[in-house]
Amino acid sequence: MIEEGLVIKSTGLWYKVQTAKALLDCRIRGKIRLQGIKSTNPVAVGDRVLVEVSETEEGHGAITKLLDRKNYIIRKSVNLSKQTQILAANVDQALLIATLDQPKTHLRFIDRFAVSAEAYDIPFVLVFNKTDLYTDEHFEELEFLRIVYEQAGYTVMECSAQSGEGLEELNSLLQSKISLLSGHSGVGKSSLINRIDPNLNLKTRAISEAHEQGQHTTTFAEMHPLAKGGYIIDTPGIRGFGLVNMEPAEMGDYFPEIFRLKGDCKFHNCLHQHEPGCAVKAAVEEHKLAFTRYESYLNFIEGQEDDEPYRKDIY
Ligand code: GDP
Ligand code: ZN
Repeated sequence: MIEEGLVIKSTGLWYKVQTAKALLDCRIRGKIRLQGIKSTNPVAVGDRVLVEVSETEEGHGAITKLLDRKNYIIRKSVNLSKQTQILAANVDQALLIATLDQPKTHLRFIDRFAVSAEAYDIPFVLVFNKTDLYTDEHFEELEFLRIVYEQAGYTVMECSAQSGEGLEELNSLLQSKISLLSGHSGVGKSSLINRIDPNLNLKTRAISEAHEQGQHTTTFAEMHPLAKGGYIIDTPGIRGFGLVNMEPAEMGDYFPEIFRLKGDCKFHNCLHQHEPGCAVKAAVEEHKLAFTRYESYLNFIEGQEDDEPYRKDIY
């Protein structure tokens, strides 16, 4: 019997596949047609697959076909530069948990994450946690950033794992979707996960601990089912999923507000740096485009890394 299912865990050899009827342990049978990319693992969490359910061994099956992906996130191996691993597929949204205080999240880091999400074609959601700590000045800054990122077309949320503010909205955002949760250590990601679903916290912790013991090369992503439906992917390594092989000429495509203005520049190949008749620069001068975003853009095309401490775990 053939059933369609969702891959929720992968070890490279074995896959856990959730079908409408059961959770199956599966291996891959035959050759899986790779979709657009050569990778060490043909199937990843989030993939939708066809499974032939075993008639002899209960709870087992064989993956026979990989169904079309809407997107996927890759990880480039540091040691074997040519090796590419798919971390997750069909991600509905990437949430970056940020804070304005204790510790303050660097704007460049937010923008790098947003650019990566754009490049991977994954909707980006910016979540500011720890609002219970914010002063009036923080709230002013939050309003500024809300305008900046909403103008770019992103969803901006605020919450506090401590006071519970905004958690209902966060819960409904996560419901029925595959969400990637990222953020620097200390922003309150574990606390939020714990508030969303205490069961989940234990599971993600176990992975973190394995990671810290240096087993990350064998720890593949796992999707954690939410009690109310939907899944979250929380791999410690996916903190900012870097600017993989990005050319300066394509960078503007990943800043939606720059992309929208591109057609108005005098030169079709304008990089929005020093070119005359640049609509992007004009928009910055007229305060129609946030200078913080423009600065990030310039930074990225020049290859600067001013949030270097966080580059280590970038994918
Ligand atoms: P993670 O490293 O992102 O998983 O962060 P944790 O969840 O471990 O939280 C880091 C620290 O921030 C802990 O001391 C938490 O108690 C604290 N924390 C987390 N969320 C909040 C919040 O919303 N408000 C306040 N005041 N503290 C928080
Ligand atoms: Zn321009």
